[in-house]
Amino acid sequence: MVKIERNPVPPPSLAVEKQKATGVYNKSDVILRLKEDSHDKCYICELGGLSDPEVEHLKPHHGRTIPERVFDWNNLFYVCPHCNNIKKESKYDDKIIDCCEEDPEKMLEQCYEEGHVNVHNIVNEERAIMTADLIQECFEKRNTGIREAACQHRIDRLAEEMNFLYKTLEKHKKDPEMQRCKRTLKATLSRSSIFSAFKRNYVRKHIKDYPDLEEFLV
Ligand SMILES: [Zn+2]
Repeated sequence: MVKIERNPVPPPSLAVEKQKATGVYNKSDVILRLKEDSHDKCYICELGGLSDPEVEHLKPHHGRTIPERVFDWNNLFYVCPHCNNIKKESKYDDKIIDCCEEDPEKMLEQCYEEGHVNVHNIVNEERAIMTADLIQECFEKRNTGIREAACQHRIDRLAEEMNFLYKTLEKHKKDPEMQRCKRTLKATLSRSSIFSAFKRNYVRKHIKDYPDLEEFLV
């Protein structure tokens, strides 16, 4: 999870739908705006190019019993069905970091090592602890056949992305003046890139070896 810059202007359909008895919060203007602001990534697992995105309410509306949350633009997030389903558990209610308001990278560490993910809080706040647990579960909660497949898909894509990062870092170390390599690193370490929290954390942990990359982590 990384910081997302949300377009402050709500998509127009939200105000219109709010007036209806059975209005919906996922008209195409909402989906398109969320997709753009989120760089076409699930905000929880950071898988990209979602073919089946969903609109998630960061603070749940509990079957519209808290109506002001249903059409609140600042409460809507772009998510994959797998993470949306895991986040539905009541233990996460009202306890997840709002990554449009706060920078999750200052509260969590997302590590990838040898086919496994380890996410933990670095500040002692409940929302940091619960958000770390949520992201961890989205990669490792293999309690059903479907979830096993969904977790493995995310781990496999993350492994590819990390291997690409390691190779590019190696090339960069051999020839720090090679601009093509530096441009690639800038792109892959950008918050708009898939699984960027893991990649940025890796470079941050090894910044002694790549001090000139610090500027890409700002
Ligand atoms: Zn996801």
